[in-house]
Amino acid sequence: MYSYAGKILRINLDKKKITTEPTSKYSEKFLGGRGINQWLLFKETNQSTSPLDPECPIIFGTGVLLGTLTIGACRYNVDSLNYLTGGVGSSNSGGHFGPELKFAGYDHLLIKGKNPDPCYLWIDGENVEIRDAEGYWGKTTWDADSMIRKELGDEDIQLATIGPAGENLVRGACIINNGARAAGRCGLGGVMGSKNLKSIAVRGDDSIEVADTNEFLKLSEEILKKIEKDLRMDSFKTYGTMKVAQHDNDNWSGCPVRNFQDGYWDKSDRIRCEDLVENYSVKNIGCFACPVSCSHWLKISNGDFEGTTGEGFQTNTINNFGYKLNIDNWPAIIKAHVLCSQYGLDVDNTAGSIAWAAECYQRGILDKKDLDGLDLEWDNQDAILELIRKIAMREGIGDLLAEGSKRASEKIGGESQKYAIHMKKQELYETLRYRKGWALGVAVSPRGGGHLRGAPAFEGNVSPEDAEKFYGVKTASDRNAYEGKAKIVTWMENFKAILDSVGICALLSWWKSPHLVGPEDVTRLLEAATGKSWNVRNLLKTGERIHNVEKAINSRAGFTRLDDIPPERFFEEPIKSGPGKGDILERDKFEQMLNEYYQIRGWNIQTSLPTSNKLKELDLEKVAEELEKHGKLG
Ligand code: SF4
Repeated sequence: MYSYAGKILRINLDKKKITTEPTSKYSEKFLGGRGINQWLLFKETNQSTSPLDPECPIIFGTGVLLGTLTIGACRYNVDSLNYLTGGVGSSNSGGHFGPELKFAGYDHLLIKGKNPDPCYLWIDGENVEIRDAEGYWGKTTWDADSMIRKELGDEDIQLATIGPAGENLVRGACIINNGARAAGRCGLGGVMGSKNLKSIAVRGDDSIEVADTNEFLKLSEEILKKIEKDLRMDSFKTYGTMKVAQHDNDNWSGCPVRNFQDGYWDKSDRIRCEDLVENYSVKNIGCFACPVSCSHWLKISNGDFEGTTGEGFQTNTINNFGYKLNIDNWPAIIKAHVLCSQYGLDVDNTAGSIAWAAECYQRGILDKKDLDGLDLEWDNQDAILELIRKIAMREGIGDLLAEGSKRASEKIGGESQKYAIHMKKQELYETLRYRKGWALGVAVSPRGGGHLRGAPAFEGNVSPEDAEKFYGVKTASDRNAYEGKAKIVTWMENFKAILDSVGICALLSWWKSPHLVGPEDVTRLLEAATGKSWNVRNLLKTGERIHNVEKAINSRAGFTRLDDIPPERFFEEPIKSGPGKGDILERDKFEQMLNEYYQIRGWNIQTSLPTSNKLKELDLEKVAEELEKHGKLG
C-alpha cells in the first residue's frame, strides 16, 4: 500500500491485548488521518457511550501523506468523544509525533479500556509495550517527556503526553507533543487521563514509499515554489499567525476583548509581534517537513518571569491572554502559554473559563471569597496565572472552572449564564460579529467552539476576482456579506476534512489563501503517492463523507439546529469601538444563512439532522440505519 504504513495498531488496556488490522479495510472510503479515525469512532461507540467510559476509544491517526516529505504534511489527528460537548471530539496537531508513529509502522493507533494504574505506551516498531508510569504521574508534560526519554535511553523518541490537567480530568485538558504542539480542544487530555494513560512514546525506522517518485518530487517542488511565491509568506515565516490578532483588531475590531464585551482593544500597541520576535525569540522552529518554520523558541531573560522558555504560540494565545483577558505585556503572555503547555491545558478553553469568571467578578456576580481570595480584575495577571494552576489541579475555584464556562455558569446560575461564551459547551475565542462566513463556520462546527472546520480564514482577505475564480463565490471578499457564505463554509468543511486526512497543515492551504495548496494539488499528490486514481470531485466527496460521519456522531448524541445558534451576545451587543464599531450578527440573516447551509448539505432544515438520502448518496448506509434506529434521521 503506497504512502501508507499499512497497519492500524489496537491496544486494549483492560485486557492487555495488542493487535493490528490492515488500514486498507477503511482507506478507500475514508482516506486516512481524521477520516478513518472518525469512522472507527462512529463504529465503536453508541448512543450511550460517554467520553470517560473505558470502552470509549481514543484514536490517533496519521495523514496519508505523512512521512512522504510532502511540504507541510506533518499533522496527526486525535479523535474520541468530546469531554466538553458530549458529541464528536477531534483535534489536530503538528510537530514530529505523527510522522514518527508512521515510521514505527502504524497509520492509526486505537486505544480502549483503562489501565488499573498509571501507564504509558512504548511503541518501538513491532515491539509494543504497556509500561508503568507511576513515577511520571503528577509530572508536567515537559518533565514526563524527559524522564521517559531517559528511561528508554533515546533522545529521539517522540511523545504525546498529558499533564496534571489530563490526570485530574479537567474538561479543557489537551495532549502535548514536542513541548507545545497541542491536540487541543475537546478535552481529549481528560479522555487519555481517564484511561490512566500518561503518554505514548514512539520510535520508528521505516520509510514510506510512494508509487511514482519522479512525479511526486516534481509536484513537491512545484508546491514549494508556490508557497515561496505567496506574498504573505515572508511575514508568515517571521510571525506565524501571530499577526492575525493584531490585524483583525486594528482593521476590523475582530478580537474577543474582555470576554467579547468589545471587539477592539486600545492596548494592542503594547503587544506588537515585532517586539516579541525582537526581544524574546531565540530561534525559529517548525514541524516535520515544513520549510516555513512559523513558530519560535522564546526565552524571557529578565524581570519577573526571567528564565521562562518555551515554544512560541499562534494567534489564539494572543487573543486569549491578551485581548480576551487584558494582559498587556509579552512576558506574562509567554508565561501563561508555557504554563498551559506544561500542565497540558488547552489555551482556548482555559482562557474562556477565566474570562467568564473575570466578567462575573466585574459585574459583582462572583466576589473575592468565591475566587479563593483572588482579585480577578481584568489586568491582574498574577491572579490569571494562579487560576491556570488551580484549574489544572482542580483546586478551590479551579475545580469549578475546570468544568468550562457553560457548566460553571449553570452551577452559579442567574445572570452568570449570559457571560459563558461557548458553542456546544466548548469555549470560543473566535468573535462572531465581524465576519459572517467565519461566524457560520464556527457555529456549525460539529466539535463545538473553534474555527478549524468550515470557518474560512481567507474571508475578507481575498480579492473579489480571486474569490470568484477560486472559491466560486465573489462575496468571500466581503467580510460583512451574508450571501454565498453557506456555500463557502460547506466547501471549506469538505476540503478541511481532506487536509486533516492527508495530514497537510491548513496554514499552507486554500483555507488561508488561494495561492497555496489547493484541491488540485492534493489530488495530484495523492495520485503520485498512492498510485490510485483521484480527481477533485471524488476527493471533495470523500471530504463530505467524513464530515457527515462527524455530524452523525453529534446527531446520534442529540444535537440539533439549536446547538448551531451562537451566544446571544453576538446578536444583542454591537462592537463598541474601533474600525468595526457597530458590527453585529443579525439574527434573521444568520438564520437564513443556516437554512441555506443545511439545504446545501442535504440535511433537514428544521432539525439539522442528516437525511437518509444524503447518507446513502455518500455510501453511508450503516450510518443512516444507526440514526434511524435512534429516531435521529432528518
Ligand atoms: S506552517 Fe507552521 S504549523 Fe504549519 S506545518 Fe509549517 S511550521 Fe507547522
